[in-house]
Amino acid sequence: MEKLEQLYEGKAKKVFKTSEPGKYWIEYKDDATAFNGEKKAQIAGKGRLNNEISTIFLSLLKEKGVHNHFIKKISATEQIVQQVKIIPIEVVVRNIAAGSLAKRLGWEEGKELPQPIVEFYYKDDELGDPFINNDHIGILGLANETELVELREQALKINEILKEFVLNKGIILVDFKLEFGKTPAGDVILADEISPDTCRFWDSETKQKLDKDRFRRDLGNVEEAYQEILSRIGGSVNV
Ligand code: UDP
Repeated sequence: MEKLEQLYEGKAKKVFKTSEPGKYWIEYKDDATAFNGEKKAQIAGKGRLNNEISTIFLSLLKEKGVHNHFIKKISATEQIVQQVKIIPIEVVVRNIAAGSLAKRLGWEEGKELPQPIVEFYYKDDELGDPFINNDHIGILGLANETELVELREQALKINEILKEFVLNKGIILVDFKLEFGKTPAGDVILADEISPDTCRFWDSETKQKLDKDRFRRDLGNVEEAYQEILSRIGGSVNV
C-alpha cells in the first residue's frame, strides 16, 4: 500500500489517502493544543505513545464487538484505518465530574456521577465546539434520531468496556470524547483516537492525573503520564 496525498491536518493527526480504496493512512503528531488551539506545544514522543495507546484501546473494542475504523498499526506513529466521513459531533461520556461539567453544574471535581452520562458537542473550531442537544443536532442535520440513539448506546457500551479494562490496571476513567464516522456504505462506526489526549485518566489510589490535563493545567511530566498509561495497559513502546 502506498501513502498518497494528505487530505487533512488536524491538531494531533494527519490523514492521507492511500493506493487502496476505502483505506486512510493516519500519522500521529507530537503537537499538543488546548483551549481551542490557544495553547500550543510539542510533547516529545506523544505521537508514538498515542498511536500505541489508541491501537490497544481500538483493538480491545473491536474484540468486544464495537466496530471501529482501526485496521493496523504500521509504524511507531502511523496506522491504517478504514475510510470514514467524520460526523461533526463530539460525543463525551462522563463517570466523574471534571472539566467543563464540574464548571457547568458547580460540582466539585472528583464527585462521582449517579450514572454515566452522554453529552454532545458541535465539532466546529470557529464556534469553540459548543454544547448542543438533540434538537440542535436535528436542525443542523448532523445525525437523525436513529443515529443519535445508536451513538448514545455505542458510547455507553464503550464506556463500560474501557472503564472495566483500565480499572483492572489501577486507572479510573473519569470522562472521554469519541468521534464517529460514516463509511462509504453508510454504516456509522467509531473513529478518531482513544488516548490520554481524549480521555481523563486518574490513578485509582492517588487520584494523580495521567492525561492531557497535565498539559492544560501546567502540571508537568506530561510524557511520563502518557508513558505510565501505556505501560499499565500493556504497551511496549519506551520513549
Ligand atoms: N475532550 C477532547 N476534545 C475536546 C474537548 C474535550 O478530547 O475538544 C475530552 C477531554 O479530554 C475530556 C472530555 O472530553 O476527557 C470532557 O472534556 P470537558 O468537556 O470537561 O472539556 P475541557 O475540560 O477540556 O474543557
